[in-house]
Amino acid sequence: MRETPAAAAPAGPPPSRCDKHRTDPDPGPCRACGDARKAREAYDRDQADAASRAQSEKARDQAAARRVAIDNCQLCDASGYRDGRLCAHDPTVIDRSRRGAAAAAAAIRRPGAADLTWSNPA
Ligand SMILES: [Zn+2]
Ligand SMILES: [Zn+2]
Repeated sequence: MRETPAAAAPAGPPPSRCDKHRTDPDPGPCRACGDARKAREAYDRDQADAASRAQSEKARDQAAARRVAIDNCQLCDASGYRDGRLCAHDPTVIDRSRRGAAAAAAAIRRPGAADLTWSNPA
């Protein structure tokens, strides 16, 4: 159950002109208009900040969800790829090359000199 309180959401951007010059395209020097414009600019900045904050939070959430999906998925490697393709993390979709993907995943998880050691028995 989730209700959005109406008071929490601002009605919209404040006017960038004072009440007197609301519809005047060229009000000339007006202190109230200047204040209104500054308030509007601050509002726009806040909106942009909030938007980019929300954006990065969303990106972080998505990255975390992706990480969990990859960790829980037996099909793909640590990057979420399976046979060079982005994995859907859907265990019901098991293709023929699963073994190859598992081998590739194992190789990626152990990036190291294992192969070099084996190929260099000196
Ligand atoms: Zn004005
Ligand atoms: Zn997967």
